[in-house]
Amino acid sequence: MRPRREADRLRGARGRGVDFSVVGPIRTCVGCRKRAPASDLIRFVLIRFVSTGGGDDLRLQVDAGRRLPGRGAHLHPDPACFALAERRRAFGRALRFTGVADTGPLAEHIRAVSVPRGTTDDPAEAPDHDPAR
Ligand SMILES: [Zn+2]
Repeated sequence: MRPRREADRLRGARGRGVDFSVVGPIRTCVGCRKRAPASDLIRFVLIRFVSTGGGDDLRLQVDAGRRLPGRGAHLHPDPACFALAERRRAFGRALRFTGVADTGPLAEHIRAVSVPRGTTDDPAEAPDHDPAR
């Protein structure tokens, strides 16, 4: 029994996400400095608030829809990469700001999307790699 060629091809291209003809742009993770398809990385941008004290409040905001304007930076959905980036002050360098930004929301997001190894009790519900992301 053979599936039709066209349907088979489309399914393959959709399900993989690592076919280099369809991955699209390559970006660099500001944590580990490795290059990866943008679709494998989290995009985040710098949001600037004017605080009541007159200074700027900076926050790193996850751009899940990849449509926020301005300069963005990329990070693997991995707490290790986040820690590396923080230690190297890579956020300020990548997003061109000085001072301290609130990285809480970004850290929170990464914790939420990363799947810790060895703590899964339902393997069917938690694929260790999600190619569609
Ligand atoms: Zn990384």
